[in-house]
Amino acid sequence: KLFNEVQELKGNIRVYCRIRPFLPREARKSSTIEFIGDNGELSLANPAKVGKEGSKLFKFNKVLGPIASQDEVFKDIQPLIRSVLDGYNVCIFAYGQTGSGKTYTMTGPEYATEKELGVNFRALNDLFIISHNRRDTIMYEVNVQMIEIYNEQIHDLLGSNGSEKKIGILNASKLHGLAVPDATMRPVNSTADVIELMRTGLENRAVGATALNERSSRSHSVVTVHIQGVDLKSGATLHGALHLVDLAGSERVDRSAVTGDRLKEAQHINKSLSALGDVIFSLSQKTAHIPYRNSKLTQVLQSSLGGHAKTLMFVQINPEVSSFSETLSTLRFAERVS
Ligand code: ADP
Ligand code: MG
Repeated sequence: KLFNEVQELKGNIRVYCRIRPFLPREARKSSTIEFIGDNGELSLANPAKVGKEGSKLFKFNKVLGPIASQDEVFKDIQPLIRSVLDGYNVCIFAYGQTGSGKTYTMTGPEYATEKELGVNFRALNDLFIISHNRRDTIMYEVNVQMIEIYNEQIHDLLGSNGSEKKIGILNASKLHGLAVPDATMRPVNSTADVIELMRTGLENRAVGATALNERSSRSHSVVTVHIQGVDLKSGATLHGALHLVDLAGSERVDRSAVTGDRLKEAQHINKSLSALGDVIFSLSQKTAHIPYRNSKLTQVLQSSLGGHAKTLMFVQINPEVSSFSETLSTLRFAERVS
């Protein structure tokens, strides 16, 4: 309730900044992050300038520091996720340069322990458990789609063999968030189903010539959880959709250094990330025209961006000094929409 009241003014968009810790292999020199306030403030230091002049202050709805656990992060967004069961459309996505922790936040690290599992698994499992608990009053169906958007083409990640089939998009506004009807839809009836589903999706993502990490940094992955509920007393139905998005790396590619396929990839990524930024910016400004049609990404997410939908962006930060200029552009992207 509070969320709705507070966010009404801002078009239901929240921005959380998450700073990942230094990794064991990274020399623990100094961080570009000077301080984190508990009111969502964060100060970024320019390593080339000393003192006050080199500092810039940013403000978000929340800043999650390097020691924030996966569980803490999830607890914070749990009410937002559960609102899907009340018929809301929700979109959660992770934005940032490659290596900043997007996949860690959304999925977890490779070979994750239970504690390290990310938002995708926790959200699906939570929705499954809550819907099961409510089974005496509301009968819910939980179905999941997983797709990847690479070079402005959509690939089904839950298809039975390989999934390199290209599929199209419909205007989802009339279809309860079902923007990609041809992508495989899988029911979720147990925690085991959730685990199995996530594994299939990940395996299919790795298909192709490039290794998973390489490919995944250049494509957007979208997990969509469709909820349908029937009130057992009144027979009333409700629909909700949750989009969980691990975006392609936001790093700028040196145009003079790349050609051919790499250049094409970079242009597609650039185009779709700016389209996403433009949509969210228009929503925050409450302009009449929202430019959803400028990329496949924004078309797929349309039903959970704007209207009564709730949007949460994780802005991911790599604290290394060598990442300063990418960090600055990431924070600027976030600042524009928050
Ligand atoms: P991205 O998906 O943005 O390219 P990753 O999620 O792959 O970045 O993160 C890069 C590396 O940092 C991985 O080894 C990952 O496990 C690690 N990492 C990221 N965030 C955290 C975190 N909050 N705590 C511990 N390790 C993290
Ligand atoms: Mg990743």
